Amino acid sequence: MLMKICIIGAGLVGVTSAYYLAKAGHKVVMVDKEAAPAQITSNANGGQLSYSYSNPLAGPCIISRMPKLLLGLDKSFSIKLNADIGFYKWLLSFINNCRPSKHDANNKAILKLGLYSRQLMHELLKEHTINFDYLQNGKIQIYRKQKDLDTAIKHSHTQNKYGCNQQALTPAQAVKQEPALKPLQNEIIGAIYSPLDESGDAYKFTTQLADICKQSGVEFIYNKNISIKANNSKVVVADIPADNYIICAGSPTRFIAKQVGISVPIYPMKGYSLTAKATTQAPKTSITDNDKKIVYTKMGNNMRVAGIAQLVGYNMDIHTKRCEHVINSAAQDFGHCYNASDIDLWAGLRPQTPSSVPIISATKYSNLYLNCGQGMLGWTLCLGSAKLMADIISGANSQINAKQYDLGR
Ligand SMILES: Cc1cc2nc3c(=O)[nH]c(=O)nc-3n(C[C@H](O)[C@H](O)[C@H](O)COP(=O)(O)OP(=O)(O)OC[C@H]3O[C@@H](n4cnc5c(N)ncnc54)[C@H](O)[C@@H]3O)c2cc1C
Repeated sequence: MLMKICIIGAGLVGVTSAYYLAKAGHKVVMVDKEAAPAQITSNANGGQLSYSYSNPLAGPCIISRMPKLLLGLDKSFSIKLNADIGFYKWLLSFINNCRPSKHDANNKAILKLGLYSRQLMHELLKEHTINFDYLQNGKIQIYRKQKDLDTAIKHSHTQNKYGCNQQALTPAQAVKQEPALKPLQNEIIGAIYSPLDESGDAYKFTTQLADICKQSGVEFIYNKNISIKANNSKVVVADIPADNYIICAGSPTRFIAKQVGISVPIYPMKGYSLTAKATTQAPKTSITDNDKKIVYTKMGNNMRVAGIAQLVGYNMDIHTKRCEHVINSAAQDFGHCYNASDIDLWAGLRPQTPSSVPIISATKYSNLYLNCGQGMLGWTLCLGSAKLMADIISGANSQINAKQYDLGR
């Protein structure tokens, strides 16, 4: 049955959801509080399409790091205690998800959605021309500690069992694959290369896909801050009547859902990026520095460097002191790849669930759905999440099992 569907939030997740719903023949209205699409978290992220990298944040190794994280002694990841009760519920669930059995199940659910998203990206690009500095050169994760490399090699065997193609490289092989790593050859002890992974500019992709949606009849309403109300078994939104509503509002999804008594386990995880003009030595393969938790991606004429995970609340301010880790590490390790004297800084809030598995789900209201919580991998997972959401609403069979992403799982 064809319906009128209102999508709240025009970031990566909302715009891709609009695309698949419009393609299925539904009438779609997109609403955002900003004046254009992709103005918040989908604006200047790391750019990696990390289809093979599904490691949930919550895992067995985090527990021993917890005191360091709480004391702010880890430059890449920090947790600040605060007065928000929802945060403690989130933290308890996060700790529960660190158990090996949960970690493995979460990893599998994310990987499935990742590989499905890759397939959908290729199908989409056969149908539409989108210029988003897309590179299909894979990704290299570099390691400096033997224990971490051993864990990564073991993990790569699991990923390969589920359909990935991850290969362990010596430092010399890593430099051969990506010459931009040459200055680090004596510092790293090995790498994992994932040839299936890709990269591209999420902002360019979202804005051009929004244009494609517009051409196929999707209506866009900007500068409108949405709140919802419950009316018996349904929700209503003033001025925007629709058969169904989907909240794709990133981190604030939690607050919108709370207006109708739904608890959504999402907490913002702040990160930073810098963008600068690339030199001819910039990497063609996207790189993740596993020790420093920093990613490097070439986007057209620019380099994008991103990192830092801070559970510090809903603040999007740029604290130069706090992003020094990214600025200094990038200058030290990859200073030959970009012009470090002229950088643009950006901060964003990853909509993080305790399990790192997104929520793509119906709710207790018959006309309200959620597509949110893609966290660190919203660019990677947006197409799979959007197609699954469209299938759930349309009552169509999906290629993947929706139960794994349900709010009540
Ligand atoms: C530093 C950093 C690096 C990252 N790197 C990568 C990467 O390399 N690869 C990857 O896969 N992912 C990466 N991510 C994650 C990815 O960017 C996010 O998961 C993704 O952008 C989330 O998209 P979204 O559509 O859910 O949220 P958003 O882009 O935040 O969109 C939500 C939209 O909802 C709107 N909205 C909110 N409340 C309301 C309301 N009440 N009414 C109307 N509109 C509302 C907002 O204005 C916004 O436009 C990174 C994130 C960060 C911060």
